[in-house]
Amino acid sequence: MNRCRGTKPNGERCTLTVEPPSAYCWHHAPERAEQRRRAASKGGSGRVSSEVRQLRERLKVLTDQVIDGELETARGAVANQLITTQIKLLEYERRTKDLDDLLERLERLEHGRIAG
Ligand SMILES: [Zn+2]
Repeated sequence: MNRCRGTKPNGERCTLTVEPPSAYCWHHAPERAEQRRRAASKGGSGRVSSEVRQLRERLKVLTDQVIDGELETARGAVANQLITTQIKLLEYERRTKDLDDLLERLERLEHGRIAG
């Protein structure tokens, strides 16, 4: 068993052991970087895309109702405005989350520099 060659966010050597021939643990393996990134972003974006799906479904129903004359155009217009507002909120939420991720990474980098 060898020690992982990766470095922790605070600049210390990773303490995990690895099975040769790999030189890095799961957290530090360069070939796993993309996989890790996807795993990390899964939580937030999964929920947002399901909300987007629901909005799209609702929009489709409303559109059909307006076209078929089941829904007054005035109500349809207001519903459309509300859906637009919900979409803006989702966009805002997503941007805020991206910013939070960036700030967190920046903080970790700064900590690493102070420790090292
Ligand atoms: Zn490691």
